[in-house]
Amino acid sequence: MSGWPYTTAAWRRLRAAKLADKPVCEVCEMRGRTVLAKAVDHRVAIAAGGPAFPPLSGLRSMCASCHNYKTNVADRPDRQAKLGSAFKGCAADGSPISPDDDWFQ
Ligand SMILES: [Zn+2]
Repeated sequence: MSGWPYTTAAWRRLRAAKLADKPVCEVCEMRGRTVLAKAVDHRVAIAAGGPAFPPLSGLRSMCASCHNYKTNVADRPDRQAKLGSAFKGCAADGSPISPDDDWFQ
């Protein structure tokens, strides 16, 4: 992540507030794992029309691994339509994390 809005004081405050509110990776949490979050991600990418400074509910705390994966796979313009399938794996109850996972089809 680089450039606007990540260089702004407003983002740093928002990011710190999110990590204080949700200090563990929300993706790993869905898999039943507790991993300390290092990054804060927009649930709706700015490139996809999402707000740069959404409320905390519009953000997602992520560990470095999940964030790197999401950045590499999901944050590409040609992949925006597939954002929902950005995360592989299953939730703690055994259902896939991604709503458009093949499991549901
Ligand atoms: Zn994670």
